[in-house]
Amino acid sequence: MAKIQAIRGMNDILPEQSPVWQYVEDTVRKVLSQYGYQEIRMPVVEQTELFKRSIGEVTDIVEKEMYTFDDRNGDSLTLRPEGTAGCVRAAEQHGLLFNQTRRLWYTGPMFRHERPQKGRYRQFHQIGVECFGMAGPDIDAELLILTARLWQALGLAEHTRLEINSIGTAEARRSFRSALVEYLSDFVDELDDDSKRRLESNPLRILDSKNARTQEILQQAPALDDYLDDESKEHFQTLRSLLEAAGVQYTVNPRLVRGLDYYGKTVFEWITDSLGAQGTVCAGGRYDGLVEQLGGKPTVAVGFAMGLERLILLLETLDLIPESVNGDADVYVTAMGESTMATAFSVAESLRSALHGRVVISHCGGGSFKSQMKKADKSGARYAVILGENEVASGTVGLKPLRSNEDQRDIGMTELASVLKGMLA
Ligand code: ATP
Ligand code: MG
Repeated sequence: MAKIQAIRGMNDILPEQSPVWQYVEDTVRKVLSQYGYQEIRMPVVEQTELFKRSIGEVTDIVEKEMYTFDDRNGDSLTLRPEGTAGCVRAAEQHGLLFNQTRRLWYTGPMFRHERPQKGRYRQFHQIGVECFGMAGPDIDAELLILTARLWQALGLAEHTRLEINSIGTAEARRSFRSALVEYLSDFVDELDDDSKRRLESNPLRILDSKNARTQEILQQAPALDDYLDDESKEHFQTLRSLLEAAGVQYTVNPRLVRGLDYYGKTVFEWITDSLGAQGTVCAGGRYDGLVEQLGGKPTVAVGFAMGLERLILLLETLDLIPESVNGDADVYVTAMGESTMATAFSVAESLRSALHGRVVISHCGGGSFKSQMKKADKSGARYAVILGENEVASGTVGLKPLRSNEDQRDIGMTELASVLKGMLA
């Protein structure tokens, strides 16, 4: 019988890759908690309606990328394609937004039926951040300052650049949209197919078309900037000066729009030039209208999501993963003969109590001295603790360095932990 394979575009993350994932997740988690962000965990499945109402009916995601199915009750459910909608739903449902500000983050898998390619998958992982109840550009700036700190921590500061834009209020976008459609209607035949379709459904998205001819046509198009309302202009101006004061470099990209309907005012993307076409590692913006649109009290909000696969791909491409991120053990405790097993466990337990954050592996499964030492070596451990019947009888162990030419030596079991602590430091 043919073996069953994983679904195309949905990846297993194997034990060898986990240390890198944990390194990235831990780094992000540390930075977020330094800024007082709290974690929220939402279900992976929501009512389909939630995404239709938030992301927008005529977006790529809702039109053609969602995993939607009827459950056994006949309800239409969808595997979440992004986290913002669910986060808003949860925060609203549990009264987290009532008369208070919130800084939240979450992580987990997202699902989109896209064409799988490097940096683009059908199940992928995001870390998302959502801030509620803060209207000013200060929180927008904080999000960007925070991400800049994260790039610093990951060694990516030189490899990412920030593009920002303001897409104004819904009214501003409406007048701009009419002007844009009017201008583009003279060029309908020359537009790429996606853009033709979007002319009716979502004309703003034409601005970030990758098609060369479409971009050429757009050169003379009306500029969103000219339609911005005063409040959005001022908001954007203050954001810019806050970023400048904080030393966060950026460029204004007047063509930057986001693919989801709920954004307004600030939008931004962190882009890398080292991953080809899938260069956006983090993207977000302000979505002041969404909470109300989903039935909540008007609550302003701003957030972003970063793609973990792309981030990890970038770190690997640039060889920026610290050597210490390797999943190696520190100590491997052998046990030669059945009568030594109980003592071996007690030695290993005492090491785990004394050596915080160190990996101590107990050999299980018996075998010859040679085969146990082979496993010790393979574990990446720096030291093997050698324990046979003689050692048990004399209350000592053999301590064998595995990564240097130093000699093996005998050490009393009671001293072992403190000796190893010093040697591993
Ligand atoms: P893109 O323009 O690359 O399709 P997007 O605008 O659809 O991105 P968002 O919905 O804003 O992306 O998601 C935020 C981030 O999540 C992206 O910048 C990217 O890093 C990551 N991401 C989005 N879709 C995928 C995917 N299919 N596979 C892997 N990562 C993804
Ligand atoms: Mg996309």
